[in-house]
Amino acid sequence: MEDFTPQINEYLQRLFPIPRSITGEGNRETLRILQELIPLQILEYPSGLQVYDWTVPKEWNIKDAWIKNRRGDKIVDFQKNNLHVVSYSIPIHSRMKLAELQPHLHYLEELPNAIPYRTSYYQENWGFCLSYQDYQQHFQADEEYEVLIDSELKPGSLTVGELLIPGRRPQEYLISTYICHPSLANDNLSGVVLTAFLAKELLRQELNFSYRVIFVPETIGAIAYCADHETAMKKIDAGLVITSVGGPGRFGYKQSFAREHPINRIIEAVFKKKGIDFITFPFDIHGSDERQYSSQGFRINVASICKDKYYEYDYYHTSLDNLKFCRPENIAESLEIYAEVISLLDKNITYRNLSPYCEVMLSKHDLYPPTGGEIIPRKTPYPEFDLILWLLFLADGHMSLWDISEKLQYPMDSLYKIARRLERKRIIAV
Ligand code: ZN
Repeated sequence: MEDFTPQINEYLQRLFPIPRSITGEGNRETLRILQELIPLQILEYPSGLQVYDWTVPKEWNIKDAWIKNRRGDKIVDFQKNNLHVVSYSIPIHSRMKLAELQPHLHYLEELPNAIPYRTSYYQENWGFCLSYQDYQQHFQADEEYEVLIDSELKPGSLTVGELLIPGRRPQEYLISTYICHPSLANDNLSGVVLTAFLAKELLRQELNFSYRVIFVPETIGAIAYCADHETAMKKIDAGLVITSVGGPGRFGYKQSFAREHPINRIIEAVFKKKGIDFITFPFDIHGSDERQYSSQGFRINVASICKDKYYEYDYYHTSLDNLKFCRPENIAESLEIYAEVISLLDKNITYRNLSPYCEVMLSKHDLYPPTGGEIIPRKTPYPEFDLILWLLFLADGHMSLWDISEKLQYPMDSLYKIARRLERKRIIAV
């Protein structure tokens, strides 16, 4: 695969400063920029729309926000970092003493140079986030502060990006990432950018399966999308949530809920093949949008491959999760792993032998070596003729090619080529 590192870097630089949330212009701008790479459809879900037990919230947009001291100096400034404002803060312009302001200030004593990331989506409130260093330096008990949040919270819509990549078969895999975080690089601008480049790569390939690629605001966006595409989503068996893929730390993957599902086995096989020492995070009910996709109604087996997984690194949900921490070359490396996993998933077809009663006459189908008697089983491990026999023996409509590959300890790519030949000769079928 082409090395996308320079292009990934360009898109990281452009997308990083954009203020994003679960709704708003920042999300639309992000998706518009991604449309340069892939032909995303933009879906809008209006505020007030009922989606299962949830309601699409009002749309939030923000122009400016700051706190000024008595001298008029901006001591907290949204223009310098969009993490300074609690996402979904309602507008305010007022003067107040520290005692009144204090409940609206968020900082981390244990990480004194980091601005934390905080949200208040479903409870109307306002707040500022700042480093503990800045808090100690700029705030005094008796001083009065001028506070401004120039935001708007009104009926609008929630924005989702969607791309359907058709393959030879209508059966789909789901690929989902979340676009709702503002200037945070690993969680999850890295996932957004990787997903766009992965989709761009898939569009160039001839695929067996189809791929439903979606860019949603986390939770509410995934729920709105599921509600709107319930029939299609119910047919999906497996997928990937792409998140936190660009950190300096170790690779790891969060398993889907069924540990034995091929998606988990394939991810582990790719790590092992590449000699990567990886961390396994067993399925857990916390996490990202797999919580929606794996819920009882859908039960999609969704895994995530990460490099510095969300929750697991010190800079998580702080301003230190920036473009110094999250690097384009790490995202490019993760992209290769995702691409390889998908290339195996895409070949993992479940065939059934169309002639289960005794063997088909292989010579009639031009599948038998021309000179009889020369075959001595076990002389070489699984020459092509053996593989044909094994495939006819095992392809029962239940064992997938990955199952067969594991059983025979033989590479899936070679098995796949032979299976496709047998399929073209109408000896096996899906
Ligand atoms: Zn997050």
